[in-house]
Amino acid sequence: MNSLIRRVNKNSRTSLMKFLLISILIVSIVYFVYITGGTKMVFVQLLYVPIILSALFWGALVGLFVGMVCGILTGPCLPLDVANGIMQSPINWISRMLIFSFIGFITGYMIDRINKLNAERQERNLKSPFYEELPNAQKLLHDIEQRIELKESFKLISIKFTNLHEIEKYVDNKLVFDIVKSIAKKLTHSCGRKAIYSYEKDELIVLACNNCLEGYEDSIKKVLDHYFSCPVSMQGYKIRVSLKVGIYVYQGEEKSPIEIYNKARIAYEQGEVKKSGVYYYDVNLENKRREIHNITGALLESIDRNELFVMYQPKIDLANNKISGVEALVRWKRNGTDLIGPNIFIPIAEEIGFINKISEFVFDSVTTQAQIWKSKGMDIKCSINTSVNEFIDDNFTAWARDIITSKNLNRSDFEFEITERAIAYNDKKLIEKMYFLKELGYQISIDDFGSGYNSFKSLSEIPFDKLKIDKYFIDRIYKTEIAEMVRHFIEYAHTFDKIVIAEGVETEEQLNILKELKCDEIQGYYYSKPLLPEDLEEFYIKFNQDRN
Ligand code: C2E
Ligand code: MG
Ligand code: MG
Repeated sequence: MNSLIRRVNKNSRTSLMKFLLISILIVSIVYFVYITGGTKMVFVQLLYVPIILSALFWGALVGLFVGMVCGILTGPCLPLDVANGIMQSPINWISRMLIFSFIGFITGYMIDRINKLNAERQERNLKSPFYEELPNAQKLLHDIEQRIELKESFKLISIKFTNLHEIEKYVDNKLVFDIVKSIAKKLTHSCGRKAIYSYEKDELIVLACNNCLEGYEDSIKKVLDHYFSCPVSMQGYKIRVSLKVGIYVYQGEEKSPIEIYNKARIAYEQGEVKKSGVYYYDVNLENKRREIHNITGALLESIDRNELFVMYQPKIDLANNKISGVEALVRWKRNGTDLIGPNIFIPIAEEIGFINKISEFVFDSVTTQAQIWKSKGMDIKCSINTSVNEFIDDNFTAWARDIITSKNLNRSDFEFEITERAIAYNDKKLIEKMYFLKELGYQISIDDFGSGYNSFKSLSEIPFDKLKIDKYFIDRIYKTEIAEMVRHFIEYAHTFDKIVIAEGVETEEQLNILKELKCDEIQGYYYSKPLLPEDLEEFYIKFNQDRN
């Protein structure tokens, strides 16, 4: 508001300055004409300067008016010859007044025309090349800039059509324009025509004032539901449109309009790749993205630079008090110094499609290590963590089939761990691959069991040998209801003759409760942290000595 007042004040100050300039010019010229001898002198022509200037400043009508004023001021009151007191004939000064007015008017008219043409061209430049009735990206950025200058708070809503490319490719190009236009029209009803911009062919933006967003959001959600939940009939086709909406609330911290626009875009990109929905900008997710970009390049080089290595954490069989096997856990020493945990880089590797290379590296390292242990007479079974991508990749499963034979090892000494979450999300192909690997002789275990995706009912359809209870339950096993749940898991798995392992056991108390609950195996810091191969050998020897 203050800056609006400032702007109005500034404009009226400029107009006042112009008015004073013109007035002073006219008065000085008229006076100059008088003292130089009257209107017979050429100096009277100097009045064209204020006439043309006022036409430039205020247009045709003001030009005409100033021309008339100048004509009258140099008319009946101003002599033709001051020294000899000769007055002008009316025809003389009236003709001059008409010429002054004509010049003032015609100059103003031409300037008005030029300004109008310029404004039209500018307006055309601010229209979307795709949807002519909507303003474009340039206009959006300009309007955002204005709101920043006026220190107004606002929200930017980006509506992205995520499957237009496919519709265009497989159905019809024109249909794409019709879909976007129809959605823009629907939004226009609730948000107003001026609030909707077309940024790209597949992206609409709503620039909303902060306090009127409630209604906007509801109408956007309505549009979204209408277009996504049921197919839209258009030109005889039934189309399913996929939309993602990102909302960024401007709180005055960034300066550039493009930065603000990017935040709204980041907001919708936060949504899972194919899911329609409304997403608010979250700074933590943006930081995570930055971190991903930061380490992605380095991760791709990690194998060639020998920065990955595998550690082994022992698992203890309680009934026989012996080491039942080890879990292979990959580590990344970036630049040879910074240790980055798998919880950070494995999800990134999955996202960028590098996970299969890491898995091959891990599997290769583990099988090579198993050969070494075998040659030393150490009987150690190894489990390897896997992600869905590699499980369903035919190349990986074929490779997993051949590598064991080529290294002269037994498949039954190796186990693939796959998380319950991955199974809950996935389908037939994954289950088929699990059967395939199991038939080849590998063991399969369900990792992080119970971690929020309890797929108990489908467990009977899944081929597996072991159930690994998530650390979440072990941390809370002192609570009766959690202990009861764990008992339930264990009894359920035992009815299928499956083995149950507790992950993340750190204390003797946890161990004793788990023993009571008839858990089969234990893995956790209570026995050992993940170890390098040489340390694992030492642990193995010592454990077996203590046992005997
Ligand atoms: P996970 O498979 O559930 O592995 C168990 C994690 O718990 C490991 O963390 C292990 O170091 C940690 N842990 C074990 N016992 C304890 C304990 O008593 N206390 C505590 N606080 N932690 C314990 P890590 O090594 O950081 O691995 C994290 C996750 O990264 C793994 O969870 C697994 O999902 C994934 N991961 C590790 N290596 C690989 C790999 O080679 N391939 C794939 N795809 N994923 C891997
Ligand atoms: Mg695991
Ligand atoms: Mg686990």
